[in-house]
Amino acid sequence: MFRIIHKDSRTRARLGVLSTPHGTIQTPSYVIVATHAEVKCLKPSDIKKTKTQIVICNTYHLWDSALASRGGASRISFVHKRLGANIPIMTDSGGFQVFSLGFGQENRIGKILNPVDNRLAKSIIHRGRNVKITEKGVCFMINGEKRFLGPELSIKIQEKLGADIIFAFDECTSPLDDFDYNKKALERTHRWAKISLKCKVKSEKHAPYGNEVSRSGLNGKHQQLFGIVQGGRYKSLRIKSAKFIGSLPFDGIGIGGSFGKDEMVKTLKWIVPHLPEEKPRHLLGIGKVEDIFNAVEQGIDLFDCVIPTREARHGRIWTAKDHYDIRKRKYANKNSSLETGCKCPACRSGITRARLYKLFKDNGKKKQKAQRYATIHNVWFFNNLLEQIRKSIKNNTFIQFKKRFLNQHNNK
Ligand SMILES: [Zn+2]
Repeated sequence: MFRIIHKDSRTRARLGVLSTPHGTIQTPSYVIVATHAEVKCLKPSDIKKTKTQIVICNTYHLWDSALASRGGASRISFVHKRLGANIPIMTDSGGFQVFSLGFGQENRIGKILNPVDNRLAKSIIHRGRNVKITEKGVCFMINGEKRFLGPELSIKIQEKLGADIIFAFDECTSPLDDFDYNKKALERTHRWAKISLKCKVKSEKHAPYGNEVSRSGLNGKHQQLFGIVQGGRYKSLRIKSAKFIGSLPFDGIGIGGSFGKDEMVKTLKWIVPHLPEEKPRHLLGIGKVEDIFNAVEQGIDLFDCVIPTREARHGRIWTAKDHYDIRKRKYANKNSSLETGCKCPACRSGITRARLYKLFKDNGKKKQKAQRYATIHNVWFFNNLLEQIRKSIKNNTFIQFKKRFLNQHNNK
């Protein structure tokens, strides 16, 4: 169940509370990535200490172990057991990884299209040899093995994983796909959205759902299913998708797909006005500082990104002003904390730049320690930023806070 508790007077930003079987999430919120149902480099007991409210695990990577697990009499779900922290968890549908095999891995294209990719665009052929899309789903090759994933199986796996929030299976197009391809893919995604809902309902025999009682009327005590808006870089498709997915009885809305660089705000302005106001909105795979502010301003409640965790593992430390590489020689003798005044558990325990520099130089156990401290700091930094954003929405000072923060932040 999602409740909006305050709306910013000047923008679409809103404060909300999302209830799940494993607790509530104050929104807007960062969703920390826990690919294999663990936040890399953190101990389970670190997770809550970094102000993490919710994590997202990867269905594609947990697929085999989930289906192999018996479940048994345990009341704890597969992902909660593995994470070892009693907080809300999401799983993605697995679609993004499967489609990445086709366009991402082979062509080195991510979610955001860089100018350099544009130059390559003409020489790249759609989808790789590894991926074949049919009405039922996607056949793909991985490590010489033929596999298949479609809407029914994705829901089945996600139910087995047992997260609080799961996603419908959708087709992610490449930023290089043209209008005609995106149109076809979108129609397929919409058919898959209906199938995903149908499968979920079938398995929730006792759950009242239908025209009279919406799934969100279940008080957040059930596993929630979010639909996904696609449509690539095309306004008419994005609006069509927002209206269609918004009209279905999903518990929340995910916004997926790739945008050209600097196209995020434009895309959100097309989509958000057509989404149901009362449902939570998750922008998938976005999480840089400036993008966070812009997404919140456009009415986004949740977003996930690997930046806080992945960059920490490589020694990149985030601060309100910038980010820096702690492995550089100039930090070898700096006895200040990772960020002046930082209240994260690592900085409060007295970790200095010099100490972290030294720990990162080690190749063994000490490096693991370094990565843990860096992860604690970065995850706390992003979660704390979101806490400040929530405060500013509450006080109707979001726009002032955004300007002030971004003015002093050099790495957007
Ligand atoms: Zn810190």
